[in-house]
Amino acid sequence: MSSPRPNNYILVILDSCRYDSFVTANPKTMKKLGEVEQRWSYASWTAPSHFNLLMGLLPHQSPPQVYASEYYKKDFFQFNERLGAENIEFKSLVPHLYFPTFLQQKLGYRTHAMVSLPVLNPKTILNTGFDTFRLMPRHNDMRAMLKEMRFPEDKPSFYILNVGETHYPYALPDEPSDEWPRVSGVHGVFKHLDDQIVGGKLIPGTEKFFDQAKLDMLRDRQVKAIQYIDEVIEELFDLVPENTYITITADHGELFGEDGFFGHGPIQHNKVFEVPFVEGKIR
Ligand SMILES: [Zn+2]
Repeated sequence: MSSPRPNNYILVILDSCRYDSFVTANPKTMKKLGEVEQRWSYASWTAPSHFNLLMGLLPHQSPPQVYASEYYKKDFFQFNERLGAENIEFKSLVPHLYFPTFLQQKLGYRTHAMVSLPVLNPKTILNTGFDTFRLMPRHNDMRAMLKEMRFPEDKPSFYILNVGETHYPYALPDEPSDEWPRVSGVHGVFKHLDDQIVGGKLIPGTEKFFDQAKLDMLRDRQVKAIQYIDEVIEELFDLVPENTYITITADHGELFGEDGFFGHGPIQHNKVFEVPFVEGKIR
């Protein structure tokens, strides 16, 4: 008798979604997957973080008095539940150490990436072991990804979805770009937002661009983006076949003025590593 077919597996990365923004947003649909954990990303910005995620190393817990090798062993064992498989261990990924290649070549998955951030575009080295890899036309439209998702019955499918609504400027697809906070005009005070940041640290004397009320407004926009994404996730849940396992997490967090920082990347701060993590089967 043949063993049951592995699960479809969907890894949703809410770009820049900070853990406490997720908690404040209280996304009821995403929380149906399981308990929301606070975890830690391995990197503070998009490219290295996605490389790590695609090695199969999802954001980590931080248990004291545990060897890294023991943690990886336990963490990888969880892929047996995610994929509905057996005998998946870290050593299964040798020598490529790349999860899409492993899924495609050893477990017979169809592998797909849909990404929102240009730094992850299909010409990058991340595009290895994928059947399809798309940079979406807009940086902030997860719903457009759902329209492209297919789950043929002959093989299991893997999707990684890099979602941009939660990334600065935290704009929903129906918000006109001339109303985004980085643009002059309606929110003219943000005109020079990008060039006032050096190494992630606010330049002294530019506080008028970054008073805490405006940073709070940006944080509020991220919270609202998460609440919007929760509606799209509900559509995802309706779309996927029964044997589908979903992990929702983030590639890194974001700073909204704590200790003088804004954004992510060249920043060493707990808040840039704090990410939400929730996963499970919806039915
Ligand atoms: Zn990112």
